[in-house]
Amino acid sequence: MTQQTNKTANSKSIQALFGGTFDPIHYGHLLPVEALAKQVGLQQVVLLPNHVPPHRPQPEATVQKRLAMIKLAIKNNPLFSIDTRELKRKTPSYTVETLLSFRQQIGRQKPLAFIIGQDSLLSISTWFDWQKILDFCHLLVCARPGYSTYFSTPSMQQWLKNHQVHEPEILSDKPFGAIYLTDTPLLNISATEIRERKRDRKSCKDILPPAVLRYIDKHHLYQNCL
Ligand code: ATP
Repeated sequence: MTQQTNKTANSKSIQALFGGTFDPIHYGHLLPVEALAKQVGLQQVVLLPNHVPPHRPQPEATVQKRLAMIKLAIKNNPLFSIDTRELKRKTPSYTVETLLSFRQQIGRQKPLAFIIGQDSLLSISTWFDWQKILDFCHLLVCARPGYSTYFSTPSMQQWLKNHQVHEPEILSDKPFGAIYLTDTPLLNISATEIRERKRDRKSCKDILPPAVLRYIDKHHLYQNCL
C-alpha cells in the first residue's frame, strides 16, 4: 500500500529543469528558483548549462569553469543537481532538442517543467522551434526586475493567455502545456553585471555565492571582458 502511494506520488512529481549559460551562476539564478520550488512544490531542480547558446554572445568562461562554478554554488544545497547533456553536444543548445531527450528518458506522462526568467519568456519566439516547447513541458517563469509582464505583440500575449494557469496544482495534473508566472523575489542581478564589475575591479560580494567569487578571483576570470 505504502509502495503504491509512493509510486503514485513519484509519477505526479514534477521534473524541473533550469537551463542557462551561467557565466557565472549567481543569486539571481539561485534564489528565485528556490522560492519557486517552495511555491510549486518541486523537490529537485536540474541545472542545464548550455554549451553553445544559440541566440546570444558566446560565454567568457570555458565549459569546465562554468561547470566548476555551478558545482561550488550548489554544494550543500540538495534542491539542485546538474545535467551535462548540453555540454556534451558540439552543436548549439536548442532547448527543444534537450526536452526531447528528457522525454525519451522519462516518457510522455510525467510532468516536466522548464524554468526561465521573465526576459527569456519575452524573447521565446526567437528560440528554435519555440512553438513545440509546450508540447514537451510546462514553462515556469521567474519574475525579473526591469522586464514587462506583457508581450509587445497581441499574438504572443494571446499565446500566453491560451496556456497560462494560475493554480500550481494543475502543473502536476498534466505532463506539459501550461505556463505559470510566479511572483518570486525580484533580484536585479545578471551575469553581465558580474562580468562588468569584475572588469572594473568592483566588488561582487552581494550578488553571488562566496565560493563562486573565490573561484573567479583564483582563476582571474572576467578581468578583461569588454
Ligand atoms: P547574461 O547577463 O550573461 O545574459 P543572465 O544573468 O541573464 O546572463 P543566464 O545564464 O543567461 O543569466 O540565464 C539563465 C536563466 O536564468 C534565464 O532564463 C534567465 O531569464 C534567468 N535569470 C537570470 N538572472 C535572473 C534574475 N536576476 N531573475 C530571474 N531570472 C533570471
